[in-house]
Amino acid sequence: MASANLISACMNIHEYQAKAILRDFGAPVSHGAPVLTPGEAEAAARALPGPVYVIKAQIHAGGRGKGHFKEPEAGEKGGVRLARSLAEVKQAAEAMFDRTLVTVQTGPAGRKVQRLYIEDGCDIAREFYLSLLVDRSTSRISFVVSTEGGMDIEEVAHKTPDKIVSFSIDPVTGIEPHHGRAAAVALGLGGDQAAQITQITTSLYKAFVAKDMAMLEVNPLVLTKEGRLLCLDAKVSFDPNALYKHPDIVALRDENEEDPKEIEASKFDLAYIALDGTIGCMVNGAGLAMATMDIIKLYGGNPANFLDVGGGASKEKVIHAFKIITADPQVKGILVNIFGGIMKCDVIAEGIIGAVKEVGLKVPLVVRLEGTNVDLGKVLLERSGLDVIPADDLDDAAQKIVAAVGKGTV
Ligand code: GDP
Ligand code: MG
Repeated sequence: MASANLISACMNIHEYQAKAILRDFGAPVSHGAPVLTPGEAEAAARALPGPVYVIKAQIHAGGRGKGHFKEPEAGEKGGVRLARSLAEVKQAAEAMFDRTLVTVQTGPAGRKVQRLYIEDGCDIAREFYLSLLVDRSTSRISFVVSTEGGMDIEEVAHKTPDKIVSFSIDPVTGIEPHHGRAAAVALGLGGDQAAQITQITTSLYKAFVAKDMAMLEVNPLVLTKEGRLLCLDAKVSFDPNALYKHPDIVALRDENEEDPKEIEASKFDLAYIALDGTIGCMVNGAGLAMATMDIIKLYGGNPANFLDVGGGASKEKVIHAFKIITADPQVKGILVNIFGGIMKCDVIAEGIIGAVKEVGLKVPLVVRLEGTNVDLGKVLLERSGLDVIPADDLDDAAQKIVAAVGKGTV
């Protein structure tokens, strides 16, 4: 289970949820409300001072402002729209609800917009970038700040790396006023605004540590025409290993935004990670998963996913694992690579046989078993009459599945 946790993905939340957390820790965010219908959108805007309102699609992906909707009825504009009247708010909400927003982060399939955030609009003088993350090289939390806000930070890092300033926080001392001053200098802020950024860096650091975040990105942090700094966008993800300490965060999970296969896998205590290749991998243990993926790549293939069945899986668990892998249309071949320690190879074999009987087998399947009860496992597979390609070791298995998938896709 520890190894499964190690490889499971971070948990993401919506912008409106992230802003509520930041507000709790004293960071400045605009007033707003999440809504589920155009009528609610209008009512939410009525409660705000106006005269400018912002209508923001709530999906677990950034780049919404520059995104586009698949349906022409949604209009030309992206997933973040400004409105100057309640009627315009309602119109924008009607255009966006239940439509599919495509951004650089959603992939071509896009995401259906099921929730909007209606926010008090502000007049922007300058846009900055500010984020916190866990820097693995220093084992510390680092701030990344840049004067180039509102843009793709990877592009800024690539084209003008000197415009990105980073500093880390010593966990023993925690955040101190000089960190705020470092951010102020990097962003060219003085006087009252330097005091504001010090307060913001302190609030964000405290929120980051208290909630065990993995990443907190405010892009943009804006300076309004009135001279106030505001966190205009907020993207937060959490360390999955610490979620057990934060039931309030777990409650923010939105299953609509997650890969249904990952949800299905988590129900059966299986660690499933979706990737973009064509070979489905069923393995046990994170180390073996990594080795399996490396060797697939070495022979020119690409993993579509890996599914870690863990240490002592039952036949039923293996059946569920197999079903999840075969349900993915991206999977053009399956490699089962199991080392039987506590896990017994005959149980794996029975699981595979049971699953194939239930759901059929439409793609090549290579099975490499080693360890406890391996001979019995192999005999069971042979006798089953299934079209299994047996492999003796990891090298042999990877070459066989890459060859089989290659043949299957040309
Ligand atoms: P993202 O595109 O998903 O990163 O969404 P953001 O929340 O960052 O919004 C995209 C852009 O919309 C921002 O960079 C701003 O330029 C603009 N925007 C968001 N809120 C406001 C606002 O209150 N007033 C104005 N004028 N622009 C806003
Ligand atoms: Mg943004």
